[in-house]
Amino acid sequence: MRKVLGACPLDCPDACSWVVTVDDDGEAVDLRGNPGHPVTRGALCVKVNRYLEHTRAPDRVLHPMRRVGRKGEGRFERISWDEALDEIAGRLGEITREYGGQAVWPFHGTGSLGYIQGLEGFAGRRFFNVLGASVHEPTICSIAGAVGLKQTLGTSGGMDPEDFAHAKLILLWGTNPLTSGHHVWKFIQDARREGAYVVAIDPVRTRSAAQADEHLAPIPGTDAALALGLLHVIVRMGAHDQVYIDKYTLGWEAFRARIEEFTPERVAKITGLPEERVVALAERIARTRPTAIRATQGMQRHAGGGMALRTLACLPGVTGDWALRGGGLCYSTSGHFKLNLLGLVRLDLLPHPVRSLTMTRLGEGLLEVDDPPVKALFVIGANPVGSNPHQEKVRRGLAREDLFTVVLEHFPTDTTDYADIVLPATMQTEHLDVIAGYGHLYLVLNEPAVAPPGECLSTSQTFRRLAARMRMTEPSLYDSDEDLVRQLLDSPHPSLAGITLERLRERGFVRLNVDRPFLPFADGFPTSSGRLEFYSERATRTGHDPLPGFTPHADPGDGLVLISGASHHFLNTTFGNNPELRRRAGAPTIVLHPDDAAERGIRDQDAVRVHNGRGAFEAVAEVSDRVRPGVAATTKGHWAKLNGGTTVNATIDERDADMGGGAVFHDNRVQVALA
Ligand code: SF4
Repeated sequence: MRKVLGACPLDCPDACSWVVTVDDDGEAVDLRGNPGHPVTRGALCVKVNRYLEHTRAPDRVLHPMRRVGRKGEGRFERISWDEALDEIAGRLGEITREYGGQAVWPFHGTGSLGYIQGLEGFAGRRFFNVLGASVHEPTICSIAGAVGLKQTLGTSGGMDPEDFAHAKLILLWGTNPLTSGHHVWKFIQDARREGAYVVAIDPVRTRSAAQADEHLAPIPGTDAALALGLLHVIVRMGAHDQVYIDKYTLGWEAFRARIEEFTPERVAKITGLPEERVVALAERIARTRPTAIRATQGMQRHAGGGMALRTLACLPGVTGDWALRGGGLCYSTSGHFKLNLLGLVRLDLLPHPVRSLTMTRLGEGLLEVDDPPVKALFVIGANPVGSNPHQEKVRRGLAREDLFTVVLEHFPTDTTDYADIVLPATMQTEHLDVIAGYGHLYLVLNEPAVAPPGECLSTSQTFRRLAARMRMTEPSLYDSDEDLVRQLLDSPHPSLAGITLERLRERGFVRLNVDRPFLPFADGFPTSSGRLEFYSERATRTGHDPLPGFTPHADPGDGLVLISGASHHFLNTTFGNNPELRRRAGAPTIVLHPDDAAERGIRDQDAVRVHNGRGAFEAVAEVSDRVRPGVAATTKGHWAKLNGGTTVNATIDERDADMGGGAVFHDNRVQVALA
């Protein structure tokens, strides 16, 4: 038996370190969390506990395939790698000659966050650069909040999640860690044992909210107003930290005037929360140091999502919590990893500047973008039919007969059904990669544990072969995976000093060279002023309000506000075809408040149709006070073709959030009726 160290590649903050046990025949017989990793602490999650079984699933794509049916039918014939590469090289040659390289869209998803095989390093990007392909903007997940945080803090990176153990008050704000990234919960429980109080702020009574000491359920999209109302009370009490404000912030007087506009009475009306509960929470924050906020991506997927995170990050600036261990806000730690991404991605290989195409506007990109139109689409670690907004529009785009679509995949997804060529891709136990995650401060190495099954190739190897087939002569296209890891780690930033592939191999992970406790803003903020910017010139330059504020939801439709959070059993659409996880997840559900259900004649467990002007999906009603009146909740991750042909994303708009072109998955109004 051999033990091989690896890393979970999935779209989850925790970037778990894992250990694969491999028998003498080269078979992986066990995969479990690395007990030595300080955040993984030996545990994976309900999804990834089935990862080995998933790698061996009977529906795994093991060979290149060529479409034989109509687009969308999902009928394919097996072909050889030589045939696949010849066809791709031939079509790319024709397209780039006629339309230029920008007619090619390398569409990366979050199926793997790996730097070598996945999204973080835009695997294959060097190949696309030589081709002069369009640049892919990955806007589906966290960008609006990250842009908002940068306006306030100069970075989207915040406190070390391990320091939640030192907080005395924890606000779980729009986050459900027991389902998505549960490892932070151990640090929260450590804090609770020392007397910390936990408040969940979430429109839905999730697993995590049910475990909190207190739960506030604001109307979706009103978080910034709540933050301003809390600050109003804190300032009225004189509980703001004037010494910290004077020393470390910019624009206090202007922001203070903005705060004064958000009286508890007004905020109660906006958020739908009782005024006395807003005041009580503010008083609790005012008297509790340190207070830590955990806010994740869900809350920023609406028209005011960037502003929401911008405003939330000001709260610890007013209370002085940014100076304290166990205080501040944690959204994503990814901004703390100063790897040599440019050296890995090599945009300098582009023959000329190219346009960007926005991930969450795929339908528009395929149907409306011209000059040049998108003629070739490479889908890498992505399932846009399942994951993108406006499912019907995405399908219409993918169904274009003149579009050449190549999908690198593990399974026959809703998206592979539209491919011209499907290429079999390796899974995480079968290739080398490096993962950073966004919920801790460790780099994690993933060594290949087993040989790829069938004819699967890693993404990096696929593009090396394709480059050779196209007779590309740029030497760096042929760098090995180990070369790529070394180039990625070759960063002048002190937080990476001494972190090498060899060091990663010793234990499977290395913590960044940062102090412990890690107080990222102890010496000021990475803004142009060096201070936390209540007033932001950077915001004005991009057309935003220079002051933090509240931007309401924008779906002009009527009906219930539908939010679609993460499933406990799927990770985005990964595992949506796993029989056991599907069984546990059950059919798609929609949670309706008893008043809303009664108004529509809907009873618990009734089959319902959820619809709006963009599309519809079927679900089973769960009638429960887990949501407030006027709000409905469902979960994402179900596969359309296994659930009646559509999913919740059929009802989502391709509209942008206020910042960064982010998606608006939770800014969605729907009608619900008996099916
Ligand atoms: S999905 Fe998250 S919690 Fe589960 S194994 Fe992967 S990193 Fe860990």
